[in-house]
Amino acid sequence: MVNDWLLRAAGSYNQLSRESRDDYAAILLMPVDTLYSIIDWTFRSLPDEILVGIDPNLELPHPIGVDEEFTGADFQSGLFAGQGYVLGKPHLVNRGDSFSVHHVPEEWIDDSFAEDRGSRGGRFTHWIHSHPNAVAVPSGADADAAQWTEGCDMILGVRFSPEGSLPWFDEVGGRRRELSTRDSADYKPGYLSSLPSIGRASTGHSIHGLEIIAFHRSGLGVNLIITDSRGLPINPNLNP
Ligand SMILES: [Zn+2]
Repeated sequence: MVNDWLLRAAGSYNQLSRESRDDYAAILLMPVDTLYSIIDWTFRSLPDEILVGIDPNLELPHPIGVDEEFTGADFQSGLFAGQGYVLGKPHLVNRGDSFSVHHVPEEWIDDSFAEDRGSRGGRFTHWIHSHPNAVAVPSGADADAAQWTEGCDMILGVRFSPEGSLPWFDEVGGRRRELSTRDSADYKPGYLSSLPSIGRASTGHSIHGLEIIAFHRSGLGVNLIITDSRGLPINPNLNP
């Protein structure tokens, strides 16, 4: 299950989330077990993308004090569905290339009005998809798909080698948020072979880096905070 590396990376991530609180309109709390499952599925599916649906856990509102600590000057209440609740269990919905992954298989679509609710059928409140060897910044197609999302969209970028037909693509704008135990590095194409490996996926790929962001369909960034199972943020000073 969740290892020390991920807990330390989550603590560093949260530290930046706290420092950046005035740059975001809302916060979203993700339990580290949920993050672990998504990372695990992502690694097992390389080099494909995956799409994961998540509903809010309506039995777990944000613990007292978290909003005060992590929201800032631009906070907006009522921005998205499920706001104020910790994310619930993740559901692996689809796997494929960057186009097909967003077209949800029939068994996940719960009624016949899917055409009015986008290619994903509006089955879940929140969605996260992986970006194999691409930065965690929404593409134009991602922004379009998000228009039917009632909650938030998230992207998990994963750098791996060998790159195959998908070299690292980072010529995009937008704010990037590395999930790392190191100081944030300014990656450049071609540096992949010199990067330390943080792990190896069961597919045989070496993993060099992860990044994760959340955003709202309006284009506003949402500040992601990684928590324990009770919704309490993982402490950056954690000393496992
Ligand atoms: Zn995407």
